[in-house]
Amino acid sequence: MRPVALTATTALRSQGRRGFSSTARRLDTYAFIGLGQMGYEMARNLQSKLSPTDTIRLYDINPSAAERLTNEMTTNHAGGAKPSIATSAAEAAHDATTILTCLPEPAHVLATYTSILSSPLPPLPVSRLLIDHSTIDPSTSRRVAALAAPADATFIDAPMSGGVIGAAAGTLTFMVGCPATAPLLAARLAPVLGKMGARVLPCGPQGAGLAAKLANNYLLAVQNVAVCEAMRLGVASGLDARVLAGVINSSTGRCWASEVNNPVPRVVEGAPAGRGYKGGFGIGLMRKDLALARVAAAEVGVGLVLGERVGEVYEEAEGREGGGDFSVVYKWLEGRDGGKGE
Ligand code: NAD
Repeated sequence: MRPVALTATTALRSQGRRGFSSTARRLDTYAFIGLGQMGYEMARNLQSKLSPTDTIRLYDINPSAAERLTNEMTTNHAGGAKPSIATSAAEAAHDATTILTCLPEPAHVLATYTSILSSPLPPLPVSRLLIDHSTIDPSTSRRVAALAAPADATFIDAPMSGGVIGAAAGTLTFMVGCPATAPLLAARLAPVLGKMGARVLPCGPQGAGLAAKLANNYLLAVQNVAVCEAMRLGVASGLDARVLAGVINSSTGRCWASEVNNPVPRVVEGAPAGRGYKGGFGIGLMRKDLALARVAAAEVGVGLVLGERVGEVYEEAEGREGGGDFSVVYKWLEGRDGGKGE
C-alpha cells in the first residue's frame, strides 16, 4: 500500500488553483463536529490552513468546547477560515460541502449523521463529502454510508493514529476507506486530510480504513499485555529493566510497546510510565478499540483467541488503576504479584 503524498504536492497544487485562478473561487463551508482531545486540535489545524474566505462551523455537545476553540481561533490566529459556533450537528452541517466528525462511539456517529441527513438539505455546487475520524466498527460506518448515498453525499471512514500529540502537531496518519485510484481522494479528500496530518493510507472500499485501524489496534493491545508480562517476568527474575528492554529491542521481541512505550518507569525517557502513566493512549480507549475489533471479527466469522482474555485484562486493570496510559497494565500486574522483584 502506498501512502498518498500530501502537503508537498496535493495541497500546494490545490492552493495554487485557489490563489492564481482567474475565475472567482468557490467559498467553501466546512463543519467540524466533536471537539474533544483529538477533534479540537484537528479542527484548529484545519481552520488555520483554510482560506480566510472559507467558513468553518463548529459543534460539540459540550458548548464550552466550541466557545473555547472559536476564541482561540480568533485571538491567536489572524488567518484561516472564519469560525462560527453551531447549536446542533444539523445546523453545523446544513450548507457545508465538507463535514468532519470525531466522536467517541458508534452510537454517536450514527445519531449525528442521522440528524444531519434527515433534515432538508439545500442543493450545493458540489456534492457533500462526509469524513468520519471516529474509531467505530466497520458495519456502523457502512450503515451511515448507506444513509448518505441518497442525499448525494459520500461518506468516508478516515480513522487515525498519532494520538493527541500528532493531532496537535498536524502529523496524524489517516487510514481511509477509499480506493487509491478514486478521483475523490486526490481532488477533495487528501487536501483536507493534509491540513491535519502527514500521511494518508488508502485501504480499499468504504469501511476498509476502520478494518485496518481495528486490526492494528488489536495487535497493539495484545503486544502491550505481552510486553508488560515479559518485563514483569524479567524484573522478578532479578534482571535490570533497562538491560532487559535493551535485549528485547535488539531481538525478536522488539515492538512499539517495548521500544517506544515501554511500561516500566524510566526505561524509555518521555514514555507515560515515567510520569505515573499520565497522558498517552488511555486504557479506556484501548479497551473500547479491542471490543470493536472483537465485534468486527465476529461479523466476518474470525475467532480472536486472545481477544476475550486480553479484554478482561484491560477491564480489570482499568478498574484497579482508575485510568492512565494503557501501559498501566504493568502496574496492575505488579500489584497482583505483590510487587515481587521491585
Ligand atoms: P473525546 O472524548 O476527548 O472527545 C469526544 C468529543 O465528542 C467530546 O468533546 C464530546 O463532548 C463530543 N461529543 C460526544 N457526543 C457528541 C455528539 N452527539 N455530538 C457532538 N459532540 C459530541 O475523544 P477523543 O480522544 O477526541 O477521541 C475521538 C475519537 O477518536 C474516538 O473514536 C477515539 O477512539 C478516536 N481516537 C482517539 C485517539 C486518542 O489518542 N485520543 C487516537 C486515535 C483515535
